[in-house]
Amino acid sequence: MNDKTLFEKILGLNEPWFITTVKVDEQQQRVDIWVDHEMNIEVRCPVCDHFCAVYDHSPERVYRHLNVCQMTTFIHVRLPRSNCKEHGIKQIVSEFGENGSDMTYQFEAFIIDISKECSVKAVAQLFSLSWDRCWNAVERAVARGKARKPRVIPERIGVDEKAFARGHKYETIVTNIDKGTVEYVCDDREQKSLEAYYLQFTEKELAEVKAIAMDMWRPYMAATKKCIPGAEKKIVFDRFHAMQYVNKAVDKTRKSEHKKLMAEGDQTLKRTKYLWLWNEENVPEWRKEEYRALKAMDLKTARACAIKDNLRHLWDYKYEANMRKYFDSWYFWATHSRIKPIKDAAKTLKTHIDNIVTYAKHRITNALGESINAKVEKVKRMASGFRSRTNYITAIFYHCGGLDMYPYPPPAPCLRYRMS
Ligand SMILES: [Zn+2]
Repeated sequence: MNDKTLFEKILGLNEPWFITTVKVDEQQQRVDIWVDHEMNIEVRCPVCDHFCAVYDHSPERVYRHLNVCQMTTFIHVRLPRSNCKEHGIKQIVSEFGENGSDMTYQFEAFIIDISKECSVKAVAQLFSLSWDRCWNAVERAVARGKARKPRVIPERIGVDEKAFARGHKYETIVTNIDKGTVEYVCDDREQKSLEAYYLQFTEKELAEVKAIAMDMWRPYMAATKKCIPGAEKKIVFDRFHAMQYVNKAVDKTRKSEHKKLMAEGDQTLKRTKYLWLWNEENVPEWRKEEYRALKAMDLKTARACAIKDNLRHLWDYKYEANMRKYFDSWYFWATHSRIKPIKDAAKTLKTHIDNIVTYAKHRITNALGESINAKVEKVKRMASGFRSRTNYITAIFYHCGGLDMYPYPPPAPCLRYRMS
């Protein structure tokens, strides 16, 4: 076997393609392979799939390929253009790489895999590519994935918001709760932001939506009520967001009580912030004793915390009526606690109780959305050089879109020996 035959096998090259030259540069650790085809061939028209005559050849294209024996490898080829009687002169769908790409299908798929694990900057460095070329592969991957994705509205939706950077404007993120994928991202967190998502679908499609988990954010509620039939019974205020209100109230209580105690020289509440916010099962072992001792003390914060802990049981109930009953007695306790932040939080929850108890039926939370949130945070950290919000959004879809992003070679060869 000579070296050309060997490389033909490595590249999976079939007749009428063949290799004309292989150049190995040991110093540069680089392999260049020139590919050509036999003379008596015909090519596939990309529009109708019929084989037709060759019109001419495009200028040489150079594709980056997977490394061969650790050496950077390039494939050089001049692709024929088809001359279909019906569709005229066309660029063929190449077996080497996607049109518009300077990577082979295999190399591009590899870059897509690696970019899931490393930052664009790291991938660029690993493969001696420029940041732009690497990012370009990511962008094309997302565009491909989005184009392939069927336009279907999920049955159970999560709506959340995310700030691009501290002090920046928000993005609205719509997720598919059952699949754990990001479906839609757009600027701002206004009513029209979410409406723009809904309006892609027909009324009939929107009616198929069974439940929507979200924070108690009025513009999202307004958009959902306007677009989704029967939204009143479908919106579920996320339990984690609801608990957050009460958690914040506990923290506020601790802060003001701590201030008061410190003025008297009492350091009881020093460094206890997280102890009050944790659920008991999450308190680290080495602080458990301190946790129990603090809770047993006659402190306003301890009472606020007990009220908070009790609210968690609200979501254990299976029926809406029981949830309401439990909430009413909790509400009475909270509003008679003489702790202002707790009273305020309880009142906020009360105004939204109709969409808190919808949990009994739908049993959804944005917890998945929260895990996507965590992923998005990771995306941000990996970004190092995102340069724009558009790039940031592309990266969200890349990592959390659940998209089929690989470039696929044509299912059948684009050229064959002439039949006639
Ligand atoms: Zn044609």
